[in-house]
Amino acid sequence: MHSGSDVESTLIGIVCSNCGHRYDADQLLTVCDECGKVLLAEYDLDRAKATMTPEALAGRPWNLWRYAEIMPVRNPEHRLTLAEGGSPLLNVDRWAAGVGLSNLLVKDEGRNPTGSFKARGLGSAVSRARELGVKVIALPSAGNAAAAASAYSARGGMDAVVFMPKDAPEVFKAECRALGARVFLVNGLINDAGKVVRENGESRGWFDVSTLKEPYRAEGKKTMGLELVEQLGWQVPDAIIYPTGGGTGIVGMWKAFDELEKMGLIGSARPRMIVVQSDGCAPIVKAFDVGDRHAPLWEGADTIAPGIRVPIAIGDYLILDAVRESGGTAIAVSDAELDAAMRSVAEKEGLFVSPESGAAFAAAEKLRAEGKLAERDRVVVYATGSGLKHTDLIGGDYPVLDPNDPNIGSLIDTAYA
Ligand SMILES: *Cc1c(COP(=O)(O)O)cnc(C)c1O
Ligand SMILES: [Zn+2]
Repeated sequence: MHSGSDVESTLIGIVCSNCGHRYDADQLLTVCDECGKVLLAEYDLDRAKATMTPEALAGRPWNLWRYAEIMPVRNPEHRLTLAEGGSPLLNVDRWAAGVGLSNLLVKDEGRNPTGSFKARGLGSAVSRARELGVKVIALPSAGNAAAAASAYSARGGMDAVVFMPKDAPEVFKAECRALGARVFLVNGLINDAGKVVRENGESRGWFDVSTLKEPYRAEGKKTMGLELVEQLGWQVPDAIIYPTGGGTGIVGMWKAFDELEKMGLIGSARPRMIVVQSDGCAPIVKAFDVGDRHAPLWEGADTIAPGIRVPIAIGDYLILDAVRESGGTAIAVSDAELDAAMRSVAEKEGLFVSPESGAAFAAAEKLRAEGKLAERDRVVVYATGSGLKHTDLIGGDYPVLDPNDPNIGSLIDTAYA
C-alpha cells in the first residue's frame, strides 16, 4: 500500500494562461512577467498516469497529496497537511425534492481544517512556497483564506501576515491570531487589502499568496475536481454550482478535468460550470451577461457572504472561459435568497453551511425554476464553508427561564407554540 508520500510530482513547468510564456517551475513566481496575467502549473501527464491509477489511489489517504503526481511539491517533507480534503458528497434529498431536483449532491467543504475549502488552496501554496525557501507569507483575505494561510504557516513553522477588511467577521480575526498570524485590518474591501500587500510586502521579503497571483493555490483547489470525479466513480456530474469570488475553485476544477482527460481517466464530457454571486457584488455574472471576457471592478460591493464579496478578479477571463466552454451559466442571487437557502438547508437537512454556500443552494432552486436545470440532472453544489463561522447572521432572541419561576410552564408553552 502506498501512502502517497513516495510519489513524485511530475511538475515540468509554469505557463502563462494568457500569452503562453513558459517559466522554469523551481523558482518563486507570482504573475506573468510579460503580460501580468495568471500563471498555471504544467505536469508530465504521461508520466503521471503510470502511477496515478484508480487502483493505486484506492490505497492512499484522503488529503491534498493523494494526487501528488499532479501536485506541485517535490519533496514529501514539504507536503504540509492537516488532513484537508476528502470531503463527503452528501445527499440532501428532502431539501432538493422541495425545489424539484432529484439528483443533487453536496460537496461539504465546511469540514475542512479551518472550516472551508480555502484549506486546499493555501495548503498547496504554503507548502510549495516553503519548498522554494519562503519564510513569511502575506495575503489579503475576506477571512477564510487568512485562516487557512495562518494554519498552514503555523504547521510549516513559517510566519503569516494577513490583511482583512475591517468589517470581516470577528471569528476570522481571532482564529488567525490564535494560529499565530499577524493580523492587520484595512479600511476597505479585499482589493484594497490586496493593494496594501502589493505595495508593502515585497520590500519586507513577504511572499504574496493572493488569489491567482501565484500558481499554486489553484493546484490545491484543483483537488475538489479530482476528488469529485473519483467519488463519482470516474464520472463527471451534469452541473457544478460554485459560489465564486476570485474564482480559484472554478479555474482549478476546470484544470483538473482537463488533466484527468489527458491521463485517460475521464472522457471529453464536462459538467456545466455554474458561477453564483450575490447581486450586491456580481462582476462575473455581469460580464457573462454582456458577453465580455473581462469583468471590470464592481463599485460598492455589498453582501453578507464575505467569501464572494470580491469586486475584481485577476482570473476573470479564465472563469468566464470555463463557464462558456462548458455550456454553463452565471447567476446572481440576493442576500435574502442566500440567507433563506442557508437556513432551510440547515433546518431540513442538518447541514449548517456558510452564506456563500447558501448562495449556491439558492441558485440551484432558481435555475430549476427557470428550467435551466432538469429535474433529473446530477447537480453538485459546493458548500464551500461552514456556517459555524457565521452565527452572527442567525440572530433572534432566546427565552430565558428562571428554574424557580412558578410560571415556567406557561412561559415554555408560549415560546414553544
Ligand atoms: C473564498 C471563498 C469563496 C470563493 O472562492 P473562489 O474560489 O476564490 O472563487 C466561496 N466561499 C467561501 C466560503 C470562501 O471562503
Ligand atoms: Zn503572459
